[in-house]
Amino acid sequence: MAGFSERLGAVLAQRRRDGLYRHRLTLDSAQGPLVQVDGRQYLNFCSNDYLGLAAHPRVIERFRRAASEYGVGSGASHLVCGHSAPHHALEEALAEFTGRQRALLFSSGYMANTGILTSLLQRGDYVFEDRLNHASLLDGGLHSGARFQRFAHNDVAALQARLTAADGPRLVVVDGVFSMDGDTAPLPELAALCRAEDAWLMVDDAHGFGVLGERGVGSTEAAGLAPDAVPVLMATLGKALGTAGAFVAGSELLIEGLIQQSRNYIYTTALPPAVAAAGLEALALVSEEAWRREHLAGLVARFRRGAAQLGLPLMPSSSAIQPLLVGDAVRAVALSERLRAAGFLIGAIRPPTVPAGTSRLRITLTAAHSDTQVDQLLAQLAALWKAD
Ligand SMILES: *Cc1c(COP(=O)(O)O)cnc(C)c1O
Repeated sequence: MAGFSERLGAVLAQRRRDGLYRHRLTLDSAQGPLVQVDGRQYLNFCSNDYLGLAAHPRVIERFRRAASEYGVGSGASHLVCGHSAPHHALEEALAEFTGRQRALLFSSGYMANTGILTSLLQRGDYVFEDRLNHASLLDGGLHSGARFQRFAHNDVAALQARLTAADGPRLVVVDGVFSMDGDTAPLPELAALCRAEDAWLMVDDAHGFGVLGERGVGSTEAAGLAPDAVPVLMATLGKALGTAGAFVAGSELLIEGLIQQSRNYIYTTALPPAVAAAGLEALALVSEEAWRREHLAGLVARFRRGAAQLGLPLMPSSSAIQPLLVGDAVRAVALSERLRAAGFLIGAIRPPTVPAGTSRLRITLTAAHSDTQVDQLLAQLAALWKAD
């Protein structure tokens, strides 16, 4: 007997006991501030569709037209015959938008991060990661064969001590906006340190791209960093851009190196061309409709003001990710369930996604929410915290 069933059974039972068991919702509607689940409408405060573009009519129409022209499946990997004109146009648009020589599409952010790190790094190199980095960055660093070191969250001095003690090729990797905390990396300090130490800086801007900076380029624009300060810029297209996939932007050399060597790029079917076409439309909307960023920033300020007045456990975040720290996993789940019963979708984020004892309600705001909806959320949270 292989013993797999017993082991799986034990793992699931333990997760149930610890309040860590996860369930999926099945949506019967598009993403938006209102979603349909099991015949009931909910106010959605857990989507990463930060600009409200996932169901934007122009994005849908562009997708439809491209599907008519290019079909649905890409048919092959990029290096065989799956690389089509919409993929190419999106790569060129992303390179131009981010001010880099080139950009390269990946099928997902997870694939991009593990693919970048495992092909850039070699045994003997060093990779330094913020301990709150996204799982895909940690996994990529661990699997790269390089010497892997985590440093305390946003602790530039701790990183400096580690960097100066190491020699050889060194890569520093951070989230631009931390996905479960909503705070931002100290990019100017990190860039200055990397420059002084002759290390490379990689930023995963999954939650900043499209949202931060005057033009929506993201965390690096907001921090005023020139392209050469961040040799490896990665971001996803499934969050603020409302579509799917991810990209890395950088030098000609970096991108050609990835095309030739990254197994995650080479051995997988290209995204559907229509998804790339939809990404082009979303990118155009990021540029044309700055009001989305402004409205979102207004909602974030409104939420924080209201939550502070109510004494809710806000975390130090000025981004669209506004977690409320609960601590205990079981209590976080209970709060999330009570919010659900009241018509609000907000996920309880628990270990192993966040450190033990820091379970939280991860509230996300989007440009598609209204002031009134944020006020409704605040009223509900006030009632819940008073009752708890
Ligand atoms: C979501 C996310 C990813 C993964 O992107 P996918 O396209 O969803 O695979 C990577 N990094 C960060 C910081 C993320 O939040």
